[in-house]
Amino acid sequence: MKRINIAIDGFSSSGKSTIAKALAKALGYIFIDTGAMYRAVTLYFLDRQIPLDDPQAVSDALRQMQIRFERDAQGRQRTILNGRDVEDEIRSMRVARAVSQVAAIPAVRRAMVHQQREMARSKGVVMDGRDIGTVVLPDAELKLFITARPEVRTQRRYRELLEKGLNITPEEVAENLAQRDYIDSHREDSPLRQAKDAILLDTSDLSREEQVQKALQLVKNRDTDKNHPHF
Ligand code: C5P
Repeated sequence: MKRINIAIDGFSSSGKSTIAKALAKALGYIFIDTGAMYRAVTLYFLDRQIPLDDPQAVSDALRQMQIRFERDAQGRQRTILNGRDVEDEIRSMRVARAVSQVAAIPAVRRAMVHQQREMARSKGVVMDGRDIGTVVLPDAELKLFITARPEVRTQRRYRELLEKGLNITPEEVAENLAQRDYIDSHREDSPLRQAKDAILLDTSDLSREEQVQKALQLVKNRDTDKNHPHF
C-alpha cells in the first residue's frame, strides 16, 4: 500500500497520542509527538531562564537546541534534548504550566515546524499536535481531529499523572488543561483549529481499544469514503 502521512490534532488529553501511537504501530509508520518537542523547548528555556520576551535570547537558545526521538529497550519512545533523555522531565507539571506560553512564540513555532516537515518528507508518518492538519502538513492524506468532554480529559490525565507518581489534585489538572486549551486555541500564530478536511472523532465514551479501532477503520475507509463521516 502507498505510504501516506496522517495528521492528528486536538485538545490536551483527548486521546491523540494513544491513537497516533497505535496507528503508527499497526501501519509500521513513524510516530512523531510534536507536543514533546514544544515541551523539550520549554524545559530548556526554564532551566536556562531564557526571557520569553527577548527575541534575541529566544533565537540564540533555539539554535543551541537539538531534539530527537529514540526508542528504549521496551520500545517506548523517549525524547532526547541535546543528547540527554528528558522524557520524564518534560511530562512534569512545571513544564505543563509553561509550555503553551512558549509554544505561542512565533520563532519557536517556525523552528519546530521546519523540523517536523523534514521528519515527514518521506511519508509514512503519524504526527500528533495542534496545528498539524492546518499548518505543518496541510497536504496530509488523512486528518483526524480528536475531542473529548473536559471532565473525561481531566480524569484521563489525572490517572496518567498518578500512575507516574506525581503528587497532584484533579483540580490542578483541570485548571492546567483549561488554561492550555485556552492559550492554544486563542494564540495568533497557528491556533488550534479543526482543518476543513479533518474528520472529527469524539473519544469521550470510547475505550482505548475502541478509539484505536475507529481510527484504523478511518484509515481503511480513506480511499473509498469521499464524504468523511463524522463520529
Ligand atoms: O500534546 P501535548 O499536550 O504534550 O502538548 C503540549 C503543548 O505543546 C500544548 O498544550 C501546546 O501548547 C503545544 N503544542 C503546540 N503545537 C503542537 C503540539 C503541541 O503548540 N503541534
